Amino acid sequence: MGLKGREIVERAGVDVDTLIQVLNQAYCDEWLAYYQYWVGAKVATGPYAHALIPELEEHAQEELDHANKLAKRIIELGGTPILSPEEWMKESTCGYLTPSNPDAMELLGQNIQGERCAIEVYNRILERLRGRDPVTAHIIREILEDEIEHEDDLENFKLSEKQKGPSKKSM
Ligand code: FE
Ligand code: FE
Ligand code: MG
Repeated sequence: MGLKGREIVERAGVDVDTLIQVLNQAYCDEWLAYYQYWVGAKVATGPYAHALIPELEEHAQEELDHANKLAKRIIELGGTPILSPEEWMKESTCGYLTPSNPDAMELLGQNIQGERCAIEVYNRILERLRGRDPVTAHIIREILEDEIEHEDDLENFKLSEKQKGPSKKSM
């Protein structure tokens, strides 16, 4: 923990323990989002799977990067990232949508839902901070930008693949 780093956040009027709790909830969301994309990329089937898998894999890595950024900030503020995967489901806001139907278009719909939830979560954190903790706000804004891009990517994929129709597996 950086004592001075935490002090300036407290002095700005932020309840740091509550902030750590909120960051930890988002941290749980990120691990679940990571796994949902990661395992989705493994099991995806159907005519759109071939085209969708690289996008799922890319997003999985980006969700893991979000977890990494949140863990680093939680520790800087004097907190501890959630230590047990058992807690992920309990603490998560966006939860986990089990890819029990591996059809790529079905996975796509579930992931779009997850991204929309993530956008709300990060937007709420920024509203709560109201510029009082620029370091956390910067991290959250970067993550929010990624989530907005994720939703946009997936929606564009859905539109373009539907227009093109199922593609033949190539290369
Ligand atoms: Fe994320
Ligand atoms: Fe995302
Ligand atoms: Mg993308």
